[in-house]
Amino acid sequence: YQAKKGGGSVASYDNSRDAGSTDQLTLLAELREALAVEDQLQLALQPAVDLATGAPTGVEALVRWLHPRRGLLTPADFIGPVEHSEQLGAFTRYVLDKALAVAAGWARDGLDVPISVNISARSLLDPRLPAEIAEALRRHDVPPRRLVLEITETVMMSELEVVDEVLGALRALGVQIAVDDFGTGFSSLTFLTRVPVDEVKVDRSFVIRMADSPEAAAIVRTTVGLAHELGLRVVAEGVETAEQRIALAELGCTAAQGYHFFKPMPADKISAVLGSLLDSATANVFPLRADG
Ligand code: C2E
Ligand code: MG
Ligand code: MG
Ligand code: MG
Repeated sequence: YQAKKGGGSVASYDNSRDAGSTDQLTLLAELREALAVEDQLQLALQPAVDLATGAPTGVEALVRWLHPRRGLLTPADFIGPVEHSEQLGAFTRYVLDKALAVAAGWARDGLDVPISVNISARSLLDPRLPAEIAEALRRHDVPPRRLVLEITETVMMSELEVVDEVLGALRALGVQIAVDDFGTGFSSLTFLTRVPVDEVKVDRSFVIRMADSPEAAAIVRTTVGLAHELGLRVVAEGVETAEQRIALAELGCTAAQGYHFFKPMPADKISAVLGSLLDSATANVFPLRADG
């Protein structure tokens, strides 16, 4: 299967059509089915690379739904309804389980690379989440440090206490936390002071506008500086061109992810890619000139 081409989705499910409640109920019933059978929900995996050495810094798991009738669905086609349904817990456990199975395979291949899983903000309102993750880590025999949970800042202000408790328990477990789409929320800076995190992901919208917009470039530069000052890793997302890679390196960004390096790929391809990235990792793999 294929990753999204350009900005559009190859999914045949048309979510621009009014997703009325009947449609959503059908979709959710179908999800229940998909969670019960094998291989309808799959993970596409996208490595992030160190901008100095080309070594893989992590791999993000991105869910895909190979729907028997609607075709390939990307998260934009179904995540919204799932987040607001009672199936969110089962869905989150399913994705985590698949991701940890992949990470367990890497350990067997001698690959020491963390896997990142996107966690819906609403999952952080479920006090059972930390225990479930602890159990899944044990079952797959994956060390907690090899799991990175990507969360966005869009957590409901009224429920901060539950979120803080859940995030605290997750940190106590030893799993890593990344702030996804950094800079797009309402209170990015406040979020960083409240929640101890390990990694910040610069949103793709800033990477795209960096070349033409001094404001976007300033936000990237400031985010990178802040991350370094706080001792956090910083990863730029959605890097599509050599120009963007070079500009990011010049702004001090140390790692990046995007179609310029790799499109999200099926699980059976990833081990070989990680192996060759680790083998060839060296200083100056990336020319600092776009034509180099
Ligand atoms: P995200 O976490 O910010 O993931 C990055 C998205 O950008 C992915 O889209 C990825 O395929 C896409 N992408 C990566 N590099 C490039 C690039 O160079 N150019 C462009 N144009 N796009 C790029 P995808 O897979 O459609 O996922 C969209 C969002 O859905 C993700 O955004 C994440 O928030 C959410 N998501 C994905 N998987 C899961 C999941 O398992 N659970 C939950 N709750 N959310 C998920
Ligand atoms: Mg993400
Ligand atoms: Mg992101
Ligand atoms: Mg994003």
